[in-house]
Amino acid sequence: TLTTRGASNGEPIKMAGVPYHAVEQYLARLVKQGESVAICEQIGDPATSKGPVERKVMRIVTPGTLTDSALLDDKRENLLLAVARNRNQLGLAWLALASGRLTALETQAANLPIELERLRPSEILIADGSDITALEQLSNGAPVKRVPPWQFETDTARRNLIRHFGVHDLSGFGAAELTLALGAANAVLDYARATQGAAISHVRALVVEQQGVHVRMDPATRRNLELTETLRGEASPTLLSLMDTCATSMGSRLLRHALHHPLTDRTLLAARHGAIAAFQVSDAHAPLRELRELLKQCVDVERITARLALKSARPRDLSGLRDTLALLPQISGVLAGTAGTQLAAIREALTPRADLATLLKSAVRDEPSSVLREGGVIADGFDAELDELRAIQTNCGEFLLELETREKARSGIPNLKVEYNRVHGFYIEVTRAQSDKVPDDYRRRQTLKNAERYITPELKTFEDKALSAQERALAREKLLYEKLLDDLAPHIPTLQTVAGALAELDLLATFAERASALDWNAPQFSTESGIEIEAGRHPVVQSQVDNFIANDARLADTRRMLLITGPNMGGKSTYMRQVALITLLAHVGSYVPATSARIGPIDQIFTRIGAADDLAGGRSTFMVEMTEAAYILHHATPNSLVLMDEIGRGTSTYDGLALAWAIARHLLEKCRCLTLFATHYFELTELAVRYREAANVHLDAVEHKDRIVFLHSVEEGPANRSYGLQVAQLAGVPGVVIRAAQRHLQELEARGAAHNPQADLFAPSSSSASSITAPEPELASIVEHPVITQLRAADPDALTPRDALELLYQLRLSIDK
Ligand code: ADP
Repeated sequence: TLTTRGASNGEPIKMAGVPYHAVEQYLARLVKQGESVAICEQIGDPATSKGPVERKVMRIVTPGTLTDSALLDDKRENLLLAVARNRNQLGLAWLALASGRLTALETQAANLPIELERLRPSEILIADGSDITALEQLSNGAPVKRVPPWQFETDTARRNLIRHFGVHDLSGFGAAELTLALGAANAVLDYARATQGAAISHVRALVVEQQGVHVRMDPATRRNLELTETLRGEASPTLLSLMDTCATSMGSRLLRHALHHPLTDRTLLAARHGAIAAFQVSDAHAPLRELRELLKQCVDVERITARLALKSARPRDLSGLRDTLALLPQISGVLAGTAGTQLAAIREALTPRADLATLLKSAVRDEPSSVLREGGVIADGFDAELDELRAIQTNCGEFLLELETREKARSGIPNLKVEYNRVHGFYIEVTRAQSDKVPDDYRRRQTLKNAERYITPELKTFEDKALSAQERALAREKLLYEKLLDDLAPHIPTLQTVAGALAELDLLATFAERASALDWNAPQFSTESGIEIEAGRHPVVQSQVDNFIANDARLADTRRMLLITGPNMGGKSTYMRQVALITLLAHVGSYVPATSARIGPIDQIFTRIGAADDLAGGRSTFMVEMTEAAYILHHATPNSLVLMDEIGRGTSTYDGLALAWAIARHLLEKCRCLTLFATHYFELTELAVRYREAANVHLDAVEHKDRIVFLHSVEEGPANRSYGLQVAQLAGVPGVVIRAAQRHLQELEARGAAHNPQADLFAPSSSSASSITAPEPELASIVEHPVITQLRAADPDALTPRDALELLYQLRLSIDK
């Protein structure tokens, strides 16, 4: 119901009322729009208070601090992020309140967009007064909140964190050296505590993320590889949608996280690969199936544990937890039959905790009601007083029947009835015709048209006892429930270990299931630079087409760049992406869609694929293309895998070709990264002649009865035709247009290849081309930012302070331009 009350600045204050039992669905809507909602409850007693009953803000529901299962997406983590910046340095801390994980990272300020794209927080905190430019644009719609700056102050933060974790100093977390990130960590904890109105005891550690533990990917790469979202922003078909057959939401969340955080630690990866192998050797996959069946019955231990810590766990959270704990011995039993260190560690973590299971079993009813206020949650036999109060209620019925029989006999009224209603309580009903027969001790309670209702002293005493028993039972249950939550609190660390082990187990079981269902194989790691794939497939494209053609790929120290040519629709992008996805999957600890894969050291994966206008960001296709290329040229190392698709396409032929050529050379000579370079500029195939490290491969097509058939298989050497007209025909371009194009093409060809301007560009002796093939100066200016050029030109020793200041203003302006 919408209404208004009073006024603020002359505007009526809007109000809305919703039924309290449906509040969650309205909360969900508000929070989804980035609003925060304060929940107030009446805490005073209406019976005793004069005037308005006292109310209190119990908690604040904000997008980044959700823990209610009704408000959360159970397949993805919900993060609250704090960002602190000091010049070039960035401190980040993010908290998943629904699991209790707090992570901190310090990095360069320039990495902010990368980290935001990776983390995708639901809410962002910054210090009031700090100006972190463009944060709002980069936040993907997450609300940005300003909090008091002192929360970010390093010394205060360190003291608060030490107090929260109950430690002597932060070196145990490897966080002693952090500064900005500590402030950020303190800010998220403070905010979480304030909004929850509770201690957040389940946040038990600060994990410091070290640079280099993950294979890095820039935002464009995450998008282009369609890991968890298609380029159109849909959830499927993506790598995640193909792989997520997880049995639990804990597993699904871990899988999503894993795909965005490929690891560089090969010991960890080998342990995961070993676990998958252990599932596969076991006969006929029976243990795997059994295990997944058991996991499917498990509840979300991770989130329930968080709610336990926040004292907001519901009765059914507890019964679910109890039932899941009861499954652990079975799960351990199945694991006992498998090999592998990783699985052994998981089994260890799942060792059943008898005391915890016993407590839950004795305290909670088999099927408790869903809300505490209705009672029926605490098990019979758990508390003598509650049992007694409940017995009074159960015995009610018997007593009333017996009373009715007795009263009928005493009064001689055969149709006398003993009944109850909520307004009048218990009464004896007698028809009007019989009412003169009632005994003396009957007191009239209510008169109806055809009947009179009475109460007797005996019935009154009973009524007092019964009604108060019910009330007292409910109060008793509430008390016992709160005590139970307190008693469960010490078990939170254990439960977090169990949750972590279940999630990891589910992930490994899913990897194993996917590996056999999709025929994936174990990758191998090598210390030698390069990537060698036999019969690789693009897992998502393969799931969408009837007959996928597998392809090999070989990159090595002496073969660092593959120049990929072939017609449009030939399969170039698919091929490049599959190499990246196989490399990524290997670093996630999964098997890979290939017969075999040998992978050398990889530190980063970059992609420059597809042209999408960033209209919202105000950048043209070409600008996006060049910004992404610039980033790659600045950051790629010899251990980076770089995919370049159709670079230079967004501008005129000459410009584009020249840029593509210079970029390819820079990648070969300076970055020395492993590159897959798909191009339409046939002239670039020349690079393979000039550079030992470059090789040509192509995708082919054949013409069959005037139609084009794509073969999708990758062959050595450059393509010899582009089939542009055939592809256009396939796309439905009208016949007359195709025929006109054919005629024009013939004319062009008739004029002779000697006049082909593009071929001329790279003819070594041609004078007009020398500027493009000339080395460093041109190349540098193509990739160098104007600010750097300006700085290079400046001679600090020769500047007056005034000139220096002037230069600073100019530099600042040229960034804004
Ligand atoms: P290009 O980048 O050369 O224009 P794409 O990689 O986009 O071509 O591929 C076009 C389409 O061809 C894909 O959508 C897919 O349906 C099909 N395709 C690509 N590679 C293969 C393959 N190896 N086997 C079967 N079909 C493929």
